[in-house]
Amino acid sequence: MQIIKFGGSSVRDANRMLAVKDIIQTKLIQDPLCLVVVSAMSGTTDLLKMSAEFAVEKKDFSQFINQIKKNHLECIANLELNNPELIYKLNQQIKSLEEKLDSISLLQDLTPKTMDQILSLGEIFSSEILANALQKFSIKAEAINARSIIKTDNNYSCGAVDFQLSNKLIVESFQKEVGVKVITGFIAESAEGNLITLGRGGSDYTASIIGAALDAKVIEIWTDVDGMYTANPAKVNKAFPQVQLTFAEAMELSHFGAKVIYPPSIQPAMIKNIPILIKNSFNPNSIGTEISNIKKESRQAICGISSIEQIALLRLEGSGLVGVSGTASRLFATLATSKINVILITQASSEHTICFAVQPDQAFRAKETVDQEFALEIKSNLINPLVIDRNLSIISIVGENMRTVPGTAGKMFNALGNNGININAIAQGSSEINISAVISQLDEDKALKVLHEEFFFPDHKTVNAFLIGTGLIGEELIKQIKSHSEELATNHAHQIRVIGLANSRKMILQETGINPAELSLDLLNKGNDSNLEEIRKFIADSNLPNSLIVDCTASDEIAGHYQSFLESKISVVTPNKKAQSADFPKYQELQRTAAKRGANFLYETSVGAGLPVISTLKDLIKSGDRITKIEAVLSGTLSFIFNSFDGQKSFSDVVLDAQRAGFTEPDPRDDLNGIDVARKILILARECGATLNLANIEVENLVPEDCRTTSSVTEFFKLLKDSDNYFLEKLSTAQKKNCKLCYIASFSDGQAKVELKEVDANHPFYNLSGSDNIISFSSDRYKVRPLVVKGPGAGAAVTAAGVFADIIRLAGH
Ligand code: ASP
Ligand code: MG
Repeated sequence: MQIIKFGGSSVRDANRMLAVKDIIQTKLIQDPLCLVVVSAMSGTTDLLKMSAEFAVEKKDFSQFINQIKKNHLECIANLELNNPELIYKLNQQIKSLEEKLDSISLLQDLTPKTMDQILSLGEIFSSEILANALQKFSIKAEAINARSIIKTDNNYSCGAVDFQLSNKLIVESFQKEVGVKVITGFIAESAEGNLITLGRGGSDYTASIIGAALDAKVIEIWTDVDGMYTANPAKVNKAFPQVQLTFAEAMELSHFGAKVIYPPSIQPAMIKNIPILIKNSFNPNSIGTEISNIKKESRQAICGISSIEQIALLRLEGSGLVGVSGTASRLFATLATSKINVILITQASSEHTICFAVQPDQAFRAKETVDQEFALEIKSNLINPLVIDRNLSIISIVGENMRTVPGTAGKMFNALGNNGININAIAQGSSEINISAVISQLDEDKALKVLHEEFFFPDHKTVNAFLIGTGLIGEELIKQIKSHSEELATNHAHQIRVIGLANSRKMILQETGINPAELSLDLLNKGNDSNLEEIRKFIADSNLPNSLIVDCTASDEIAGHYQSFLESKISVVTPNKKAQSADFPKYQELQRTAAKRGANFLYETSVGAGLPVISTLKDLIKSGDRITKIEAVLSGTLSFIFNSFDGQKSFSDVVLDAQRAGFTEPDPRDDLNGIDVARKILILARECGATLNLANIEVENLVPEDCRTTSSVTEFFKLLKDSDNYFLEKLSTAQKKNCKLCYIASFSDGQAKVELKEVDANHPFYNLSGSDNIISFSSDRYKVRPLVVKGPGAGAAVTAAGVFADIIRLAGH
């Protein structure tokens, strides 16, 4: 004897019924008796329910009935059953259903008893059609209404099974039989002879009851997915079916949202220790999931992650709870009396609050009940009226291995925290097989993905990057991602997924990730018009873990959007200096938002390009050092100009050379005016805790006064010649003292300055060459000799490499 259950989608039309026929045929080769439990054709029970609900409100229900009729007649026709008797019977049953609905409508009265009778029709139809279909292929088959074998109490819509009686009837019914018995799922009968349903999704339960009664070797549940997944595959695209689960794990997973099996179904099988096998009728060759008492050896701490999308969290709070015994029992007793189902409970050890979660539609009733129960305490201010928090979800990690793998909870909360997901309440079952957290509903999808990544791909860190800017740095970054991403993924288990690309004109958004090889301007040009708010919304709605934007522009507008990106928990990586050197309150707000939202704001490359300047500074401060002074050459251009200016050539010619070599901005005055350098020292000063603004920095502008107003660059060069002598004199004065000229930014005693200075041979900057940057940090620990960082501080390749490093830093996060 074999017991096989087919769900609604497995019998939803003629084609699916034929697929089921094929499966049954192969099963019959192994065993001549096949007990097949069927659900209603998918959607039918809902249509029946709606027709009844419409009828009682005197609304037109005919659309539902017509749909049901059409679905079933079409299925019969497509199966070419040519069975007038079957069609006649179906029409009769539908006719009497219509009469029943008419009278419900007339009396405006729908009893649970009538509702159950109506809901049962779907399984009656599907079992009869399937039995006929099998007969057509010369398979001995018979439709059986489970009323005759499954007995319950008189509780409509969720009958409690009388196992003693049902088991006896089941055993008696299937002795020495052969062929296929197509049994209605979901329906049963009370001792009084009333039709009773077993709860929505109850066909699984029917199969389990029958399988357990007959001591089957295995109970097969055929559905439309490959098994029980590690998470809801509709929400987590990397979810995969688990091959083996324990009964307890399956029970926990099914309670928290995995709709693959109706939770009560596990009980009868578990008691008899009969494995349940979940199989996919759309993909019969896949292994499926076996649920049994065998605990497979696995290095994974958990077997799945599930969630309840909508819950309300209620909080009972007050000094009257502390040390008073019996409050919790009064609370939960009164909730039980009002038939309010409590999903999760937590109590702080201060005993000051008790938190519990319920279905949102029961929240208000819960409040009424509880406030009434504690009316006296509330009146005397010992307890506050119950507080309701709505729009929350519960997310749970499930697994028996949790008991033995330490640190599971820590890992869960770390992963959530690192991705900016706030936790409202936490609960762990004492069985230690489930840890649940209450979070905002807006975070549910992201939390699922984050935890899935953390637990099932622990060595694999993915960042989801949206690239903005296709200038020199942006283009170089794309080149580096193209050539390195594969190596990164294989050797370092870090994956950079590019989920979008934009410049000031166009944007493309692709949640599934753009193949790096395809990243190009051509691709971008096919995109839509660029819009930062749309980009933000797209990234936020994608709910991907470790999501970030990479701003490779110098744009004020984009920097102005960082705040809203960070608010949306999207990290920002950028060489753009604008936001970090903006007005202090704005800067502070950005840093605070990043911290509050658990997002990262990384801008290593905004000072000294790829050189580790900011990270070095941060590490010094973090490790408890105190910075006493920063001195730095922070402009590659000015470094080059003063390193080349040795008196042989005039100053203006040196600047011209630099411009021709591509070392300056298009207008060299943008380098010479020192603003860029001032922004950089400002960024470093702020890292040290200074509350400075750009306006507080004394900047020596190297553009001579009379060169400042002309708009033409050619004219500027002409005018600059007039200052050649001035610069030459400065140089010779310095040279006479064996000194060199250096354009130095400094920060000490809370003050920042940018000025042209003489440095002697003992100064660490004396030997600076080419366009190198140099930064020296003096601190409590680096007192005698400063800590010096030196190297190329500009150029697309090194900047892009620095940006790349910041991105990877987020992956390792
Ligand atoms: N047809 C019933 C329902 O939709 C029972 C089942 O499919 O398991 O709830
Ligand atoms: Mg179903």
